[in-house]
Amino acid sequence: MKLYFLPALLLAAIAASAQTQPPIHVTVDVTDAPRKILHAALTIPVQAGPLTLLYPEWIPGEHGPTGPVTDLAGIVIRANGSDLAWRRGDVNMFAFHVNVPDGVSSLDVKLDFLATAPATGFTAGASTSANLAIVSWNELVLYPAGRPAADIAVQPAVKLPADWQYGTALTKTGESGGTIQFEPVSLEQLIDSPLLAGKYFKEFTLAPEVTPKNYLDLAADGPEDLRIKSDTLDAYSNLVREAGALYQSRHYTSYHFLVTLSDQVAHFGLEHHQSSDDRVAEKTFVDDNLTLLTADLLPHEFTHSWNGKYRRPVGLATGNYEDPMKGNLLWVYEGLTQYLGDVLAARSGLETPDEFRSALAASAATLDYRPGRTWRDLQDTAVAAQILYDTSQQWDNWRRSVDYYQEGELIWLEADTMIRKLTKDKKSINDFCARFEGLGGNTPPKVVPYNFDDVVSALNAIAPYDWAGFFSERLTSKAPHAPLGGIENGGYRIVYTDQPSKFIQARETATGDADAWWTLGIDITSDGHIDDVLVGSVSDKAGLGPGMQIVAVNGRQYTASLLSDAITAAKDTKDPIELILVNTGYYKVVKIDYHDGMRFPHLERIQGTPDRLDDIVKPMTQPPPKGKN
Ligand SMILES: [Zn+2]
Repeated sequence: MKLYFLPALLLAAIAASAQTQPPIHVTVDVTDAPRKILHAALTIPVQAGPLTLLYPEWIPGEHGPTGPVTDLAGIVIRANGSDLAWRRGDVNMFAFHVNVPDGVSSLDVKLDFLATAPATGFTAGASTSANLAIVSWNELVLYPAGRPAADIAVQPAVKLPADWQYGTALTKTGESGGTIQFEPVSLEQLIDSPLLAGKYFKEFTLAPEVTPKNYLDLAADGPEDLRIKSDTLDAYSNLVREAGALYQSRHYTSYHFLVTLSDQVAHFGLEHHQSSDDRVAEKTFVDDNLTLLTADLLPHEFTHSWNGKYRRPVGLATGNYEDPMKGNLLWVYEGLTQYLGDVLAARSGLETPDEFRSALAASAATLDYRPGRTWRDLQDTAVAAQILYDTSQQWDNWRRSVDYYQEGELIWLEADTMIRKLTKDKKSINDFCARFEGLGGNTPPKVVPYNFDDVVSALNAIAPYDWAGFFSERLTSKAPHAPLGGIENGGYRIVYTDQPSKFIQARETATGDADAWWTLGIDITSDGHIDDVLVGSVSDKAGLGPGMQIVAVNGRQYTASLLSDAITAAKDTKDPIELILVNTGYYKVVKIDYHDGMRFPHLERIQGTPDRLDDIVKPMTQPPPKGKN
């Protein structure tokens, strides 16, 4: 028998420390969310004298100073019923200075969050539609400077439109006059516990036999978007089981996948200790292609509950929202999560082993055609994370971006296959995860920081090797090609054929974009706009550039399929492909000499070697018999 609720005592201790000061009360009024404005009323306990109130700047999981301070409006601070003058910091735009008069023990603060951002970026992006809203508390609070977020107690509440339901990791304590009250938590927990609300809402319990409890909360633009297939639901239940088997622990008291199905909001996933904010296309669960393309998102964000939230690089574990973060270990935080998320997606049945391999082939081949790696090493992409999330797609292959996700995945795949090789397949990354992510067994949410040496020594405890050298070499390499050793150790190699893989086919169908990256070296949108031109490719040599639009292919108006047909027709001929381009109002005709036909990446078995990729995606658990699922 395993004792689960060691948390009870620990939680009490945490709550007590956060409650030595009276809590900040924050009530968020969501009733105007369909008009893109949220209102907050706060009561902040204070003492007389100078006081600095801060708006959260460095947002956990976003790895940068992304707090949407430009959308903060309507700030009114009152003391004993009178307005109090405030002045913003001359340098720190997130700081508001006031002088608290004698005899005043609390301030009443009103503020609005203007949810007007476009559907890009992370939580600062669009977050509401006519029938749903995501409340990210960091957008709606000010807090006194000078104390760690874990030591500031907050009593949260929300007022929702009349017929809306909600999901959140917060615990409801009561409801009156349409306002829902939640248990007091620390500011750290509050900002870590977003609330998803909507008119079209459904909650499913996943893997009901598992404790602590796990929920899939869906809010959608329309009722028809909520018709998730039972196979998909079963696979998400498997995800809960597989994650428990892999990490040998859970670091939450209950977990909520908060999934927004909407084309009106920004699309991304953001991890939290006890929930994840997963914003995906409206039709994700009713369109098979979108279901497949999104299969890795929830496993990725769920993995972060262990890798990223519980175990966190010391440079990202700042304890407040004003100190800058350091991203140098993001190849562990995001790279290992990318790998484990994909592995868990396959182990859970969210994708088949073949779909897992086809997604891996597409990702690895993209990294292999990325010449920016010759000037910027992977380590630099992690260090520069705070300036890379918002970069343009244009010349992306030369700039490089947040490559520590996908390339981190390749490196961790290689580490996994190395462990398997070194131990004659007796040990694997599973053992590392149980040791590193499961440290301390089951716990309530908390942060256990680590540094590079901790990663190395945990690996050495599983399989002794020069792990420091292994990672250093891959992090500082300026080699022209991607690190593909993990795929080879896994028993496969990348090959190119004229037929798209299932994953690429799903992507083409969902986006309408042509795939010409591994042929002409261009990334094109469905209307012929060139997003990126591969440095060194035939298109680069022919003078194509990002931002140009292809209007005609061999004299005919551009469509994605015409371009594919032209690439196929030019194979083994001497005839160039003729494009008419428009560039900032000027037209030009370009002839491209390319004769190798269509090329799509796949993983091909290396015969006579162990099929470790197949071993890696084998489930660790047995789902319960049907009907009990
Ligand atoms: Zn992530």
